[in-house]
Parts: sequence; C-alpha cells; structure tokens
Amino acid sequence: MSIENKDKNNEKLFFDGDLSLIKDKIVSIIGYGNQGRAQAYALRSNGINVIIGNIKDESWNRAIKDGYKVYSIEEASSKADIILLLVPDEVAPKVFYEKIEPKIKEKDHIVLDFASGYNITYGFIKPLPNSDVIMVAPRMIGEGMLNLFKEGKGYPVLLGVEKDISGKAWDYALAIAKGIGAFLPGGVGVKSSFEEETLLDLFSEHVIGPMTLFGIKTAYEILTKEYGVSPEATLLELYASGEWIEIYKVICEMGLFEQLVVHSRTSQYGQLTRGQEIITEEMKNMMRKAIQKILDGSFAKEWFLEQESNYPIFNRLWKNIRECDLAKDEDKLYKALRRR
Ligand code: NDP
Repeated sequence: MSIENKDKNNEKLFFDGDLSLIKDKIVSIIGYGNQGRAQAYALRSNGINVIIGNIKDESWNRAIKDGYKVYSIEEASSKADIILLLVPDEVAPKVFYEKIEPKIKEKDHIVLDFASGYNITYGFIKPLPNSDVIMVAPRMIGEGMLNLFKEGKGYPVLLGVEKDISGKAWDYALAIAKGIGAFLPGGVGVKSSFEEETLLDLFSEHVIGPMTLFGIKTAYEILTKEYGVSPEATLLELYASGEWIEIYKVICEMGLFEQLVVHSRTSQYGQLTRGQEIITEEMKNMMRKAIQKILDGSFAKEWFLEQESNYPIFNRLWKNIRECDLAKDEDKLYKALRRR
C-alpha cells in the first residue's frame, strides 16, 4: 500500500454534489446496521429510490418496520444500479464474493460504494471491470449522522475513487455524499483515497485510541496503587465525569490548542510544558512503527489470521481487560452512579 499524493495542487474540499445523477437509479444498501440505517434514511429523505439487502435477522425486521423494501442480499444486488456495501469490514469479502458478485457480474455497469477503504486497499475485495469503485467514508457514527441529518447539519466524509469506468465516478461519490446528508451546513467532503482513509482510520485505532485508553489505564494504576489516590476520584477525574467530552467538543469548535484559553492559566502552563516532555522520541518511533505495519499490510495479515483461527488473542485480551482492577473499580463506581 502506498499513499500517493496524486492531487497535490487540486481542490481538496467539496461542499456540494449533483443529486440528479442518482435520482433515477436504484440504490441498494447492503447491510442495515449503524451506517446502513443512517445512510438509507438520509437518501430516502432526499428522494432517492433506496432498497435494502440484508440477512433475515433483527436488522431485516427493523428495515421493514422503518418502511423499506427489503430483499435478500442477492436480490437487492440484482436490482441495483448503485450498491452501498455497509456490512462489517471483516465479513464484507465473503458477502461480496458469495452473494453480490454473482448477481452483478453480467451488468454493463454498476457503482460500488464503500464506507471504508480497508478491503480495497488490501485486496480482500477485487471488483470486476464493470464497476466504478468509490468510497464515501463518513467521519461520524451512524447514530450521529441520523441526529445531525434531522437537525439539518452535515459532517465530514472522506471521498475516494479507485476505479472510474463510467468517467463519472467522482460525481457519483459527490452525489452519494450529498444524498447521505454530508453537505448540509457544517459538513464537507475531503478528496482522499482508499489507501489514505485506511491509513488514517487504522492509525487512529492503533495510536490515538490506545494512547487514550491505555494511557488512562496506566495513570489509574500508578495513581491508585503507588500514590494511594482513591479509585473513585481517579476514575471520575480521568474520564467518568464526562469533562473530556466537553473538552473534545471545544477542541472541535475552537481548535486543538486555541481551546486552551478556556482552561485556567495554571492548566495552560502545565499542558504546554508537560506536553513537550511526554512526547518522547521513543513515542514518535512507536507511531512510525504502527504506520509501517499498516502500510506494509502486516497488521491486515495479522488480523486476517486472527479471524481465521477464531479470535484467540482477541478473546484473551478482552478477558484480561474485563478482569483488571480498573474494570472492577469502574463497575463499583458505575453501579453506585446507577449507570449499570
Ligand atoms: P454493522 O456492524 O452495524 O453491521 C451492518 C450490517 O451488516 C448489519 O445489518 C449486520 O447484521 C450485517 N451483517 C453482519 N454480519 C453479516 C454477515 N455475515 N452477512 C451479511 N450481513 C451481515 O456495520 P457498520 O455500519 O458499523 O459498518 C459498515 C461499514 O461502515 C464498514 O465498512 C465500516 O468500516 C464503515 N463505517 C462505520 C462507521 C460506524 O458508524 N460504525 C463509521 C464510518 C464507517 P446484524 O445486525 O444482524 O449483525
């Protein structure tokens, strides 16, 4: 995988698309889950002909209840002009090869839209030459998209084109982004690629997420076990109060460092000075190592093998985490706070 900066001088940010391009098309949403439900709702509200393809389960019943025409994945694929593949990334290749590809291979043209770059980047899905392959990857969870859409607000999406056989693949990506509500006020489309989205998504999951979660866990262990601070006060300070949610909101609104002005001067000084010290060369090298494992495909291979062998590491790590002292103290605190 390589991150080519093909469009260095081109426009990067997009704020509109032409919905008329998809008005007379059948848009099949495969997978009525977090993303599927939110994207279907916005597209239908924008007058697009949406049908749902799903396995017969809770999601199928929910789609029926929400008033959609629901078909098997095979049938929804047969009927489709545009397919939004919105099943979990780890099951998408099997669903694609067993249920979708046999039904679309005879078509002259189909638009295949992905909400993440993963399966195309690592070659787990290789679409046939009749397919425009595009990515409209929301930087927002499904529930958030639904709420924003109902409030008339947009959100960011990363847009990419892997294959453009119709000559209109970008326009399709922009039209779908508009259809799912991304371009409402506050939203934006960012010209990206499947590879760039994959790198950013995995980088956040491999570095920013663990720095937060395991940084907090380590802080809890040091504060409570080495310095005798109470678990209740520690957990509330570190995350359970929700103060960081408010800080993140202000970061979004004011900017990463500009938001510091809403903190006390003591806090600003502490954050600015200690921030320099805590990011060591070793930590930067860990970030580079994580990026390398994403770029050379070794993480994708490791995860693929883990799934094939029925999740031994995944299950062991979850067991350890659920049994750790932080989890036990959190459980006590959350029960006392009636969150559990
Ligand atoms: P979900 O986990 O919500 O699942 C989506 C649907 O796929 C559900 O209807 C689910 O059914 C169905 N499904 C699960 N397993 C199978 C299977 N073996 N065969 C057929 N259908 C199956 O997925 P998300 O909405 O979270 O993710 C969809 C895509 O969107 C992914 O590419 C993801 O990376 C991307 N994305 C997700 C975001 C999010 O908000 N979660 C944010 C941005 C992008 P059931 O309900 O029965 O499990």
